[in-house]
Amino acid sequence: MLQRKNRLTVNQYVDGILQKDRVVLSRAITLVESSLSEDQLLAEEVLHQVLPYAANSLRIGITGVPGVGKSTFIEAFGQHILQQGHQLAVLTIDPSSQASKGSILGDKTRMSALASDKRAFIRPSPSGNTLGGVAAKTREAMLLCEAAGFDVIFIETVGVGQSETLVKGMVDFFLLLMLAGAGDELQGIKKGIIETADALVITKADGDNLAKAKLARKDYQNALHLFPLNENGWKPKVKVCSAVENSGLVEVWEMMIDFAEKMKANGHFQRNRTQQRLAWMHEHIKWSLENRFYQDPAIVEQLNQVSPLVEKGEVPALTMARKLVQGFLRA
Ligand code: GDP
Repeated sequence: MLQRKNRLTVNQYVDGILQKDRVVLSRAITLVESSLSEDQLLAEEVLHQVLPYAANSLRIGITGVPGVGKSTFIEAFGQHILQQGHQLAVLTIDPSSQASKGSILGDKTRMSALASDKRAFIRPSPSGNTLGGVAAKTREAMLLCEAAGFDVIFIETVGVGQSETLVKGMVDFFLLLMLAGAGDELQGIKKGIIETADALVITKADGDNLAKAKLARKDYQNALHLFPLNENGWKPKVKVCSAVENSGLVEVWEMMIDFAEKMKANGHFQRNRTQQRLAWMHEHIKWSLENRFYQDPAIVEQLNQVSPLVEKGEVPALTMARKLVQGFLRA
């Protein structure tokens, strides 16, 4: 009931967002995150109306294992971007938010300077039942932030599991933060992720770690040489930086600007976004069907009955899956 009372009209949401009213923007994101169907319909209408106003943005995905220095990097790098006259929104996708219903990454105190800067907007990871659902909400929150005039968007995620792939599918530039001398395995880097990154940045290149970081840069540069050139013509770069000493951050930003200019010139920037939009529609279709299936009371009951049989191997999993789906579609 509280939520209902707090709800604004579509026009109030739209006007507030376009006027960059941070309170309204936050409430619109809460609306997008809501699982109530009335809220979802309202959120869709708001999104539909603000979409034409979405800024000419640069979307950057940032991933890396816990402890690699993501928060520290985003705090320092974000401030550099603000100094260049941009407005920055930082959104997170936290895979653990599914289980904990909370957010490890969402703690605003992690990035206190950005959190208190009017030119930046930080939003913790939404919680949700599926990672796909969490990502969908984050993508919609990103569109709202763009409509509010935030022209640089960071989508941060922990580099373990599926979330990097989802983030890759919603950004223009994908950045992988790496530790020197920790080995890919140790860093929980999934096979294939390095190849999809537009840049690897080795963090904490300061003090005793500087030499190690430079050595790691060389190793990764050599490794990346073995991969064929991306179809967009971009050769992934390897950089070192220290967020604590504020070194290397200017170069990372210049690289991103260079990337955006090159991709816009060769048409790949728009092509990538076009493909992402289409892929996103298909993802949504899959998630909605999946949700409908698993929330169907008859299916829930049948699953409870047959799961032990499948577990024991008394009924083939494939046969049971086919029967359940057929039954669901016929209902
Ligand atoms: P996250 O878990 O990836 O968000 O990592 P944090 O930003 O919380 O950083 C993890 C640890 O590394 C903290 O103790 C930071 O102080 C430290 N750290 C982060 N960036 C740097 C850096 O540039 N240099 C050094 N020496 N330490 C850093």
